[in-house]
Amino acid sequence: MILLRHTVCGTLRGARNLSTRASAILSALDIPVGAAELPGVYDGQWSGSGDVLESVCPTTGEVLARVRSATPHEVHEALGKSKEAYLHLRTVPAPKRGELLRQIREALSAKRDVLGALVSLEMGKIKTEGIGEVQEFVDICDYAVGLSRMMNGRVVASERPGHTILEVPNPIGVVGVLTAFNFPVAVYGWNFSLSVAAGNANVWKPSPSTPLCSIAVTKIIARVLEKNGLPGAVSTLITGGKDVGEAIVASRDVPLVSFTGSEAVGRVVGKAVQSRFGKSILELGGNNASIVMPDADMPLAVPAVFFGAIGTAGQRCTSTRRLYLHRAIAPKFLDTLQKLYATISVGDPLVDGTLLGPLHTHAAVGIYSDAVDRLRQSGAEILTGGRKYDHASLSQGNFVQPTISVPKTTDPADMIWSTETFAPILNVGLFDELEQAIEWNNAVPQGLSSSLWTRDVRNVGKWIGPEGSDAGIVNVNVGTSGAEIGAAFGGNKSTGWGRESGGDAWKQYVRWSACTVNFSDAAPLAQGVDFST
Ligand code: NAD
Repeated sequence: MILLRHTVCGTLRGARNLSTRASAILSALDIPVGAAELPGVYDGQWSGSGDVLESVCPTTGEVLARVRSATPHEVHEALGKSKEAYLHLRTVPAPKRGELLRQIREALSAKRDVLGALVSLEMGKIKTEGIGEVQEFVDICDYAVGLSRMMNGRVVASERPGHTILEVPNPIGVVGVLTAFNFPVAVYGWNFSLSVAAGNANVWKPSPSTPLCSIAVTKIIARVLEKNGLPGAVSTLITGGKDVGEAIVASRDVPLVSFTGSEAVGRVVGKAVQSRFGKSILELGGNNASIVMPDADMPLAVPAVFFGAIGTAGQRCTSTRRLYLHRAIAPKFLDTLQKLYATISVGDPLVDGTLLGPLHTHAAVGIYSDAVDRLRQSGAEILTGGRKYDHASLSQGNFVQPTISVPKTTDPADMIWSTETFAPILNVGLFDELEQAIEWNNAVPQGLSSSLWTRDVRNVGKWIGPEGSDAGIVNVNVGTSGAEIGAAFGGNKSTGWGRESGGDAWKQYVRWSACTVNFSDAAPLAQGVDFST
């Protein structure tokens, strides 16, 4: 079966006829440009004889590569190799695993710009964001290097004389990392770095539409593993679609599944992992709001909303989709925001100065158009945007106009407000009291990111406290998008409650044991229980 993402490319061109634009990037990452097909499975060796995935450039429609994914047998084999790799890695002391991550960090850093360019080429985000995504992987490696000497357990006071209790973290095993198309490098990085520091092997199933990013990253990591005499299956790659994802999720050899993707698929994955009593980390859809109070610093708030709504063409899980403006400042705010929208430079994400690239797929353009149609039919006022770009220079790509709409209803239960449309559409509602805006912020199923713009400390206290935002990310005078790796990243409610990156996220990648050790010559029972005969 051939999985085709685009119909816009017309006659499919073989990888042999690649444009210079694409060849230069792929060659710099040691991806053969002359091959008709690339192997998409790595478990120490490259292989793959399953379905063919096509990597299609969202900007030009060019077929960048055809990648052979895994057959069910190859998935089984790769999982077996990963388990063997885990059995080895768990014996390597944690600080030595940190040294491995330091070397991986160096290798990634050396290829940062070209790997970032590949992200732009294959996913479609602009160059500075593509490079920023690789930088996140570099940053989390740094973090994990430090962590490798600080993954501490605890000593707990025992009630029994001559006893001590230890809480001990140990590696958990093989971690399945299933990732979404929109962060084709960083999300694996967040998981891989913490997981390796913890002593686990990893199996990565990337989005079927971004296989090249995963192959490039795996090649970089594999070289470092090899240099250190470690099994390649510490970082196994299995490209593929739903079938491969389902096989990993169902496997009892994968005690922890870290899934990043849509709420719909996350719901299925969460239940499947739970049904075999596995552990899961779910990082699902967001539907993020910015609230702007009358005392907000407008020169800061307007550009932040602009970036939040349009950055990555509205395809970040943290993109600003809902904007709640205090009635007193709404006309001025919207006027300034629209002026900024009018300046947006749209085009090839690889070109310096482009701020808006394409949507990732042709299908996403349909989802955008349907959402705008629904807004129009419901009587929303479309202030700007609402169409596909019709310039000839953009006709081969999935370019859509960033859209600001003022829906007729502010009812958060209405699907206009309650669903995540993965496109640059910003819906605006007006409020009179902060409490009302917070209620709207919290009334949707998702709970990823949120932001309040104010200079009044009383508003801040309310916003970050028990009566405030119920999202996993609660910002003040910072937009919804663009988190750093130091704090735990993730969302609540139907965003899945998962946490990755910083904070205490590493604690999910280990199995915890409570170990009571008796150093005495007696064996008393806890709570004074007497069981003597
Ligand atoms: P998606 O749910 O379509 O796919 C995600 C992954 O799941 C892919 O690798 C896909 O092949 C795999 N998959 C599909 N069906 C499966 C099944 N039945 N079993 C196992 N795996 C299966 O998501 P997408 O369109 O690639 O990404 C966009 C979504 O991801 C958005 O909703 C976005 O908000 C979300 N996202 C969330 C975060 C976060 O941290 N919360 C980060 C990035 C993206």
